[in-house]
Amino acid sequence: MDEKTSRLEGFHKKSLDERLELLKKNSEIDEAVDHLVERGLSNEKADQMIENVIGTYELPVGLATNFLINDEDYLIPMVIEESSVVAAASYGAKLARESGGFKATTTEPVMISQIQVTGLSDAHAAKMKVMENKQELMDYADEQDPVLVEHGGGVRDIRCRVLNSEFGKYLIVHLLVDCRDAMGANAVNTMAEALAPRIERLTGGNVYLRILSNLADHRLARARAVWHKEEIGKDTVEGVVQAYEFARVDPYRCATHNKGIMNGVTAVVSATGNDTRAVEAGAHSYAASGGGYSPLTTWEKTAEGHLVGSIEIPVPVGIIGGATSSHPGAQANLEILGVDSASELGEVLASVGLCQNFAALRALASEGIQKGHMKLHAKNVAIQAGAEEEIVDEVAKRMIDEGKVRVDKAEEIIKEL
Ligand code: NAD
Repeated sequence: MDEKTSRLEGFHKKSLDERLELLKKNSEIDEAVDHLVERGLSNEKADQMIENVIGTYELPVGLATNFLINDEDYLIPMVIEESSVVAAASYGAKLARESGGFKATTTEPVMISQIQVTGLSDAHAAKMKVMENKQELMDYADEQDPVLVEHGGGVRDIRCRVLNSEFGKYLIVHLLVDCRDAMGANAVNTMAEALAPRIERLTGGNVYLRILSNLADHRLARARAVWHKEEIGKDTVEGVVQAYEFARVDPYRCATHNKGIMNGVTAVVSATGNDTRAVEAGAHSYAASGGGYSPLTTWEKTAEGHLVGSIEIPVPVGIIGGATSSHPGAQANLEILGVDSASELGEVLASVGLCQNFAALRALASEGIQKGHMKLHAKNVAIQAGAEEEIVDEVAKRMIDEGKVRVDKAEEIIKEL
């Protein structure tokens, strides 16, 4: 068995079967690759996951190569319907590799659960009563999830905020819970619901909502990488820095800047069976938490003129619980990815987000993204126009050669062929 590497030369040029063979040569993940192929989501499993199931819905799994994160090689499964994302991530990671790849860190995996106390005439005094009984409340919350506590997680703190609302003052109690390797939504919601009657008794108020906050700003991942000017060209360094500044001063651009980051992040979140909406809500609310809406990455020039990028994003993800445990494809992808903790998965997400942003900005600041997009897009258009599998490539090629990638053109070529 070869040692695990993410540097798979010419991977994109190989056939699907060849890719699987090549992957299986990587030690540790050969069984996972078999599992990915064998273990689709059965109707029976799907029927246990959500309600009113009538079938399953497939999406491609692509493998991003070349990622070096904290000096370790990662092969990163991405589930996404959009072409070019996997290629862009692999290309950006290849260029970053030359300068040591990505350096990533995380905070402790702490999620927040909120308890909304209403009907208080003395909200500040109510806050003090909660704080006086903090330890007892924390202990009671921990009792709700002995398994989490056994794994080193549990409640870390209780904090209170008093907010002015149209209905008077709200006391908002935040329960800060270390969720270890779980995303933790169910865990923290259960704790908040259990605490609510005690908090009502303590404060004399009325509790309505008891639910996690998706602004997971205590569970952050950070990453940084340098792209050498000799590798990417001085113009690209300048172009990316200017593109970042554009996003920083214009929310219309910033939305697309952050969407590009989430192209990579969400694809890995999906591949690992995590909750894409939770991560998206966390990312965008974090981007807006400073007042305006800001880029999740920053781009600068080093003193030597190289490009350096950094990212900070909330990573409410797990490697156990939810669909990460129940979806067989997610299990196989987690095995291929080879992460040992939810925090390590967070570090991968931050690195992928940063890399995806680099690749998009590099292309935008130089040749534009349509050139790279067109090849696969043309294939999709050919399929849309009804091309049989044997002629899809030919139809796509002719459309690109003629500079007309449209369904009507594809139909015309199909007729000719
Ligand atoms: P879960 O309840 O399935 O699993 C978590 C539990 O696993 C923990 O409470 C703990 O008891 C146990 N566990 C075993 N080993 C552990 C370890 N090493 N580390 C931590 N815990 C361990 O899942 P969850 O993570 O509590 O909830 C995730 C699910 O909640 C997702 O499916 C998500 O879509 C959903 N959800 C999300 C929201 C939201 O984002 N607003 C709200 C409600 C539910």
